[in-house]
Amino acid sequence: MTTHPEAGDVVDPDDAPTTIAVADRPGATVPTDHTPLAEALRDPAVPVRGLTVRQPWAAAITHLDKRVENRSRVTTYTGLLLIHAAKKTDTGAMRDAPADLPGLTERGTVLAVARLTGCHPHTRCAGRCSTWSDPDRWHWQLTDVTALRQPVPATGALQLWTPPDGLRQQIADALPAS
Ligand SMILES: [Zn+2]
Repeated sequence: MTTHPEAGDVVDPDDAPTTIAVADRPGATVPTDHTPLAEALRDPAVPVRGLTVRQPWAAAITHLDKRVENRSRVTTYTGLLLIHAAKKTDTGAMRDAPADLPGLTERGTVLAVARLTGCHPHTRCAGRCSTWSDPDRWHWQLTDVTALRQPVPATGALQLWTPPDGLRQQIADALPAS
């Protein structure tokens, strides 16, 4: 399942016009913030976004070492990111996914909290950034991926979405004790 060309991609129309800004700093990353995730989620001043990802890719981020999310669009957002399993799956990749992958059957739930640290085009890394990276895609770089103790139901979206305060609290509560 590591080389499927449609890996986890969901068209992200709201991110379209920002190519120039990121092209100016290709491969740029921000320092990782080590503030505990639950504390950050409970602080309304800290930005949080949700990323809806089709299965099996949401489970691969949450429970395997997938730290690159392949997207057709660039993003300039960095920071806390909820990994949300879409209701729709990547049917081709599902056929190749290990049946015992934890979280694989989850749909419409947040599985993990991560940090999005940057984004670069495949032309910049030539696929060397990760075995999970796909050609002709933007590579969204993830770190600090932490699986929730229990998945939390949520409504996702094609583009990056902003979770309501109540959902942020529920997800903070569902993080493992640090
Ligand atoms: Zn890359």
